[in-house]
Amino acid sequence: MYKKLFIPGPTHVDDEILEAMSVPMIGHRDSLYSDLHGAVVTKLKKFLGTDDHIYLSTSSSTGMMEGAIRNVVHNKVLMTDCGAFSKRWTEIAQLNGKEIDVIKVEMGQAVTPEMVDEYLSKGGFEAVCITHNETSTGVMNPIEEIGALVKEKYPDVLVCVDAVSSMAGAEIKVDQWNLDIVLAGTQKAFALPPGLCVVTVSKRALEKSLSVENRGYYFNFEVLEKKAIKDQTPATPAISLVNALNVQLDRIFAEGVEKRFQRHLDMAEHVRGWTQKNFALYSDENYLSPTVTNVHNTREIDVVALNAELAKRGAMLSNGYGALKGTCFRIAHMGDLQLADVQWLTDQIDDILGL
Ligand SMILES: *Cc1c(COP(=O)(O)O)cnc(C)c1O
Repeated sequence: MYKKLFIPGPTHVDDEILEAMSVPMIGHRDSLYSDLHGAVVTKLKKFLGTDDHIYLSTSSSTGMMEGAIRNVVHNKVLMTDCGAFSKRWTEIAQLNGKEIDVIKVEMGQAVTPEMVDEYLSKGGFEAVCITHNETSTGVMNPIEEIGALVKEKYPDVLVCVDAVSSMAGAEIKVDQWNLDIVLAGTQKAFALPPGLCVVTVSKRALEKSLSVENRGYYFNFEVLEKKAIKDQTPATPAISLVNALNVQLDRIFAEGVEKRFQRHLDMAEHVRGWTQKNFALYSDENYLSPTVTNVHNTREIDVVALNAELAKRGAMLSNGYGALKGTCFRIAHMGDLQLADVQWLTDQIDDILGL
């Protein structure tokens, strides 16, 4: 049976998007593709408030997380660990042989500008990598403030952002916020199927990359840029997904960007209220995510059994991530889900659990 996805990726995909994926194939060196690619990039620039380079990567987001590190970090980088995905990025930097320092906070806590300041003041860092929305804990880190701090006190340090579960669900102003690299896969708040990753790269980040050794090929910004200027990609792109993204960006502008973000906040408010009434919020209430809520399982319900019951009713939520499995469960409220969807979901849970 079809289950509506309330998990933080992949997310529910609307029929109009599925239809946009099932159109006749075009050649990726045909002008039809360049026209499509160019249109998507233009719309993304407007949506993200940037004049930076934008590349469309046929990969999961993790691929481009590795790409960011390999392109702009020659030696030393500041990483964070505030949950599973920031930890993953730290591991990527380590496995690529970079010298790292790590800001580690308890799960459910945010990485603050003060912490970034304290670490960067030690000196020697080329970049700082921040996870905008830590999907494993439902925390949104204050990247606007962190970007401003770095610009003011450490102007040579590049700011790299994993915006996988926030882009298209929360405001990101790439240029205004001083963000050099911002990446996001399409299967989260963009509400497309998985397989495509969007990345913005500032002029200075691209320039820096030219001096970094051992960048590989697939995620190499220089290689990507050579084709991007022709509105193409070096390797065969996921054309169906690019087409779907084009349609989705039109839908985003048609809904209204502000309205879209407000819809995410409205869904988040509903889930938070329900959580506080029946369970407890796990994460720091000053930094709650607008796209996913981490519910502290204070009633010690069997999350697997709950999901099995929800499956019969056509829905699915997520268990706690990693160390939080069982201790928490997560409800995603992002992408093309509507307030009525999350209201329906919490009604189902109330009914199943007899709340
Ligand atoms: C989902 C997610 C990732 C991993 O994305 P993939 O596309 O599966 O590689 C990385 N970071 C964050 C914050 C995520 O939510």
